[in-house]
Amino acid sequence: MSDTPGTSAGTGAEDYEHPISHEDFRQLGYKMIDAIVDYRSNIEKHPVRSEVAPGYLAEKLPESAPTQPEGLDAILSDVQTHIMPGITHWQHPSFFSWYPANSSYPALLGDMLSSALGVVGFAWIGSPAATELETVTLDWLARFLRLPNAFLSTGTTGGGGVIQGTASEAALVALLAARARPLDGRDPGADGPRLVAYTTDQAHSCVKKACAVAGIQHLRLLPTSAERGWALDPATLEAAMTADEGHGLMPFFLTTLIGTTSSAAVDPVAELAAVARRHGAWVHVDAAYAGVFACLPDQHDLYFQGLEGVDSFSTNPHKGMLVTFDCSALWVQNSFWLRTALSLEPQFQFAGLRHAAEHLDYKDWQVPLGRRFRALKLWFVLRMYGTERLQAYLRHHLDMAKALAQLVEADPAFDIIATPRFGLVCFAPRGASEEESTALLERVNASGRTFMVHTRLGGRHVWRLAVGGVHTQWRHVEEVWALVQKVVGGGEA
Ligand SMILES: *Cc1c(COP(=O)(O)O)cnc(C)c1O
Repeated sequence: MSDTPGTSAGTGAEDYEHPISHEDFRQLGYKMIDAIVDYRSNIEKHPVRSEVAPGYLAEKLPESAPTQPEGLDAILSDVQTHIMPGITHWQHPSFFSWYPANSSYPALLGDMLSSALGVVGFAWIGSPAATELETVTLDWLARFLRLPNAFLSTGTTGGGGVIQGTASEAALVALLAARARPLDGRDPGADGPRLVAYTTDQAHSCVKKACAVAGIQHLRLLPTSAERGWALDPATLEAAMTADEGHGLMPFFLTTLIGTTSSAAVDPVAELAAVARRHGAWVHVDAAYAGVFACLPDQHDLYFQGLEGVDSFSTNPHKGMLVTFDCSALWVQNSFWLRTALSLEPQFQFAGLRHAAEHLDYKDWQVPLGRRFRALKLWFVLRMYGTERLQAYLRHHLDMAKALAQLVEADPAFDIIATPRFGLVCFAPRGASEEESTALLERVNASGRTFMVHTRLGGRHVWRLAVGGVHTQWRHVEEVWALVQKVVGGGEA
């Protein structure tokens, strides 16, 4: 991107001149930052959920890309006119859908630098800092979450962390590692049709997808119940694994959950891991949403015990911990099996080398080859917040959800449907039919003042209110609760 185009003497090849020079970018960059800050500081003016109809955009835009360069002003103007109506505002403080996907200013700054460096750190030599910062920041994060030492790169078992794009990828690579680990001295890959994976009927669909992608033919979605808080009973797992072995099958992989997507249910991980280990299965913990709450000592004591006995653990800083999507952290106690499954360099399969090589190539810990320098945005967040402010941030969400749950509980027009945990409150209008509950929730959402989604628990249509927005304060939770009460009470939204 030279500012001074010329010609390469003798070749006839003229230097290429980009439409945007270094100095142009400086000015445009400032302008873009202004546009971002204007958006974020006025975000409450937008309806939370987009109300456009499918296919709304194509008719508003030209059929083909422009032949000549266009300016930023023209593009930003189209963003206002055509793109913003089709945005569901995830960073709106009254967005309470699904789980949050926080985007913070420090993460934005780190991501901007990552884009500017434009390195692809699939191998250590592709940018040593990209690999090494990822190792360091995941050690920082593991210590912050008080994960067992075996998950640290400095441990003695060959463990460590890696940033995957999503928890779904984390589950897939954990499953592939599990399949690469010998079972009873045999190579489980050779016993493909006999392998059985286990999880619960509350698991995220990513487990099913991982099995489909990996060609695993048997997946048991073990039943949970309201009585056990939608958590898996170790006796159910024991019976299922024993029965499968009796039929000549091989249990090899268990996905257990801390914070289910539906209701934030928590499995008894230590007991389940003990059962799975007795049967030779790899234990993966999917704590995509809730895992970051392990940084709070009381939450750690309640929900994150027994992780010494699991093989892999994943959580998404891109959900509730301020790191702009995508940043899903995965730790393993021994990366040897990951590398055996995913490295195309055969020495890993045959050498007795069980510990991380002298330098590591993260391409051997993931499905794709290329990878972004995602550790930067995590590093920026950890440094620009500091662990105490991060704890206070997560505590703020816990406190708001707890206070909301008390309001719901005190109102006879509503039932609390699952034990409120982390930032999630699951409730339903008392006595409402499926159709009534659905229609009421749609009226709340159609107001544009909030957005919630429903789940299904024990056959019932249940409203989920997930507190965890980057700008969410108590007044926003109070407002949405007043709106919900009014609509359910028969008033206008
Ligand atoms: C959100 C969620 C996922 C999916 O996360 P992605 O990073 O989008 O793949 C998986 N498991 C659980 C428990 C979740 O809550």
